Amino acid sequence: MLFAKAAILGIGLIGSSLARNLKQNQDVRELAVYDASPANLQKARELALADICTDSLPEAVKEADVVIFATPVCSFGELAQQIKSYLKKGAIITDVGSVKQYSLQEIEKYLNKKEGYIVVGGHPVAGTEKSGPENGFASLFKGRWCILTPDENSTPEAVALLTKMWEHCGMKVDTMEIAHHDKVMAAVSHLPQLIAYSIVGTVADLEGYEHKEIIKYSAGGFRDFTRIAGSDPTMWRDVFLTNKQTVLELIQRFVEDLIALERNIRWDEGDKLFNLFKRTQKIRKDVIEAKQDQPEHEKRILEELGAKNIDKAE
Ligand code: NAP
Repeated sequence: MLFAKAAILGIGLIGSSLARNLKQNQDVRELAVYDASPANLQKARELALADICTDSLPEAVKEADVVIFATPVCSFGELAQQIKSYLKKGAIITDVGSVKQYSLQEIEKYLNKKEGYIVVGGHPVAGTEKSGPENGFASLFKGRWCILTPDENSTPEAVALLTKMWEHCGMKVDTMEIAHHDKVMAAVSHLPQLIAYSIVGTVADLEGYEHKEIIKYSAGGFRDFTRIAGSDPTMWRDVFLTNKQTVLELIQRFVEDLIALERNIRWDEGDKLFNLFKRTQKIRKDVIEAKQDQPEHEKRILEELGAKNIDKAE
């Protein structure tokens, strides 16, 4: 037992997957979940995801030893302000937000060591394009990395407890400096996501192509981008607006590289194209060797989704 009471704010894909783990792993005696969506709360009740499923923040966080923010990042500041007067002193505050600098700034405006709270940023780097409690599942985190970003409001004891909590979910845990986290995620997650949004938007708007045909032959590569671009719009809007500077720098670099590729094609510079593609092939091999794209993991996810009789991820 890691915590007597835990409160999860936001019972969507990530919040509900964590809730399933906390109960299953017996890491908490009592689990409370809060959400602003009555429909999602109702689903959480039906799925018995927690002991308390409530739309009352005071009820959720009262006496909690750990509070986990799992709503879209732009809501963190408001929620932190609202829970402050109901929180137990000494409570550990953490989050699962995809952007750390903004999330922690917002939380720590209200909750920090001076006020008697311990804050440790967290980001489980795992997910699917689905959202909501019905799409969460316990093995979502298995074999993936969780990044903790401790700062001056953290304590080694809190980092150790959260490390155990995520390890019990099957994650490998790393710690990282806050700004560095946002830089790394901009490259491996935010830019690829933005490119998917852009490609799907471009192809969908092309003139002279039948929409039916694009969908019919989508397995040619388009399909993989549509999976990524099918992700939750609120979550990703918040990510781009809150990791703005880093993403803008990467977009500039990406556009330059794209123009270079355009030139290579225009001037028949096949050797340049070939050399780049050879280099990217090696990167793909490295990703597989690092077990970051494991057929087994994907199979497990599909099995869990299939077992619950809901749409399978493509
Ligand atoms: P999600 O499935 O959409 O769940 C978010 C939940 O929070 C929904 O029930 C939503 O209700 C509710 N909510 C939204 N605004 C709220 C507010 N102001 N107060 C209370 N509840 C609110 O999203 P998710 O994918 O779990 O993402 C949650 C967090 O995890 C985000 O911070 C995201 O950056 C992070 N994260 C996501 C992934 C991923 O791949 N999805 C991976 C790692 C980390 P409505 O449905 O009514 O909006």
